[in-house]
Amino acid sequence: MATVLKPRDYKSDAHINWCPGCGDFGIVTAVQMALAEMQIPPHKIAVFSGIGCSGKTPHYIHAYGYHTLHGRVLPVAAGAKLSNKDLTVLALGGDGDGYGIGSGYFVNAGRRNVDFTYIVFNNSVYGLTKGQGSPTLSKGLQTKSMPEAAIQDGINPLALAVSSGYTFVARAFALDPKNLASLIVAAVQHRGSSFIDVLQTCPTYNDLYTAEWYNHTKDGGPRLYRLAETGYDGKVTDPGNADEVIAKKVQAIAKSYEWGEKIPTGVYYDIDLPTYEDELTARNPRYGREPLVATDFSDRNLDPLLDALR
Ligand code: SF4
Repeated sequence: MATVLKPRDYKSDAHINWCPGCGDFGIVTAVQMALAEMQIPPHKIAVFSGIGCSGKTPHYIHAYGYHTLHGRVLPVAAGAKLSNKDLTVLALGGDGDGYGIGSGYFVNAGRRNVDFTYIVFNNSVYGLTKGQGSPTLSKGLQTKSMPEAAIQDGINPLALAVSSGYTFVARAFALDPKNLASLIVAAVQHRGSSFIDVLQTCPTYNDLYTAEWYNHTKDGGPRLYRLAETGYDGKVTDPGNADEVIAKKVQAIAKSYEWGEKIPTGVYYDIDLPTYEDELTARNPRYGREPLVATDFSDRNLDPLLDALR
């Protein structure tokens, strides 16, 4: 009888050294729940991270893991997926890592549509380096370790993702791991580049976006709500219909600016388009038959190429 994998089967034995109460705990739990729900064997999973508190996440997941360089998680994850298309590839990183130094990679990964999932731990500060304001901190806000309020405005990661070409764009909350796990399952099962911006509490340095702030408005009601419960539909039904694609992109971008007394979570935009791997296979059917890592190139005759270059 086949073994049923549980979330605990995706836990490594590494000691977790995030601060007590950090929202990162909710995210790693959600990843483990999602992997168990999909029953993906650990040896078929590769988890990549950039630098920051979130960069430690692959250490805590029982799967292949690679802690890359600051801002460089996406090219490494994409390269791994293209080399071994049979892997489930997760890229993880913070907002400073992905939307700051990694912003060029963030945009260009979207337009390629390689089949992987990018999960951003968005806490609006650089937690690992003592809480400086990150690219998602809005102008005029001042967290407790900043000597003065932010002088520049923050970026809108969801609008940037939709504009860059990500084919699945969602937002979730780190302290709701069950809901986040269901979005991770949807993102992994989506063919193409999936992106989830996760609102993550940093109790050590961000005293503005706290669990209390996310959970209660001034009136006491919840600040976060689910798009799916309002009739919102981000799915493009006919990817060949430019009018529908534009309308759904405009809808997603408009919704991404809703931030304040109410903040939406869920799937903002979802479209089925050919992946980068599909395009490669169209050019070279051999790529579609077997992963590059399993391809034997030893009998390849390079003489014509070398002759052409002489
Ligand atoms: Fe989490 Fe913030 Fe501590 Fe980093 S500094 S581990 S983000 S609470």
